[in-house]
Amino acid sequence: MSLAAGHALIAIPGPSPVPDRVLRAAHRAAPDIYGEELADLNMRVMDQLKRLAGTTAHLAPYIGNGHTAWEAVAANLVSPGDQILVLTSGFFGRAWAEQVASHGAYVEKLDFGNDPVDPDRLTRRLADDNEQQIRAVLLCHTDTATGSMADIYAIRQAMGDHPALLVVDAIASLGCAPMMMDDWGVDVLISASQKGLMCPPGTSFVWFSDRAATHPSGLRKSPFWDWHIRASAGRESLWQFWGGTAPVQHLFALNEALTMLLDEEGLPAVWARHAALARAVWAAVEAWGAGNPDIRLTIDDPASRAASVTAVRMPHADALRSWVTEQCGVTLGIGLGAQDPANALRIAHMGHTNAGMILGALASMQAGLIALEIPHGSGALHAAASVIAEPA
Ligand SMILES: *Cc1c(COP(=O)(O)O)cnc(C)c1O
Repeated sequence: MSLAAGHALIAIPGPSPVPDRVLRAAHRAAPDIYGEELADLNMRVMDQLKRLAGTTAHLAPYIGNGHTAWEAVAANLVSPGDQILVLTSGFFGRAWAEQVASHGAYVEKLDFGNDPVDPDRLTRRLADDNEQQIRAVLLCHTDTATGSMADIYAIRQAMGDHPALLVVDAIASLGCAPMMMDDWGVDVLISASQKGLMCPPGTSFVWFSDRAATHPSGLRKSPFWDWHIRASAGRESLWQFWGGTAPVQHLFALNEALTMLLDEEGLPAVWARHAALARAVWAAVEAWGAGNPDIRLTIDDPASRAASVTAVRMPHADALRSWVTEQCGVTLGIGLGAQDPANALRIAHMGHTNAGMILGALASMQAGLIALEIPHGSGALHAAASVIAEPA
């Protein structure tokens, strides 16, 4: 017998749950693509995306997933031989470094293992760069594999007056945790539609500062990738924003989702919701771990844990994931990039996710731990519920 029938619950770090309202908004035929309605909608979405990122900078949208935004950054910023420093705190940072290297850059990694970026180590590395050869410093705000969260403001401060651009991948954090691109001094920011933005995969975004706009690299880019063409498109030139036909139904979806985040719930409440759900997950995992030292959060320091996804080391994680899917209709994230992926999993609390969903996912895991006789401490659900019960 299985108890999985009912509304399936996904707690994977992308694609995240898409609100029914957002799916319905996309469910309509395209209007005239040269008409006023779409021109207005496109401008509204561009404006919403800048508000979401805390910036008045330039914005170049692309059709494609997060890797497309990586490609766009490389095309616009990297010339063969350029020296690029990538700060890595997990699988995504390492993968990004490889991708940039494939464009001919000379890539150096400052690898922090599973730990968050240490700004002092960055300061020391840049101090050694006497001739200021390093053109850009790249890092993930949240590395989705380890569930880490970098302190972007501290990292900018650590760069001092070194001229390298600060380039941040906020694919797994935008819309889940604060991002103040302008106040924090981020030069280039990227994100994609299918995580905190609560939309289907298929659109991605590159915001870039005036300083990045005049960066001398990336001179060999084709017009398709050129961020200037997209960012300077006129209101009625939708093909110029999008390098061809606009993703019409995606624009309807983005407008609906961004209205929910920016104008209905409001970003401070959105961030507070994600923070509370994250703490509920940590409380449960810590309680399980109190009875079994092999059950551990991947990131020790709470200040360095992501608001959107939690990575966990847990014996028999693969078996547990299968059990909760088959018996409870709950899908958890795989142990992507973990040292021992079969004994690791991730719980996403990202995007359109509420306390009921997270308590449901944790309770399903509790049932799985019992059914599979995986040793664990008691009181996890009480601990998680106590976080949810705290006054707002
Ligand atoms: C998901 C993710 C990516 C890759 O995005 P895709 O849409 O899978 O191409 C890159 N960076 C981070 C931090 C991510 O979370």
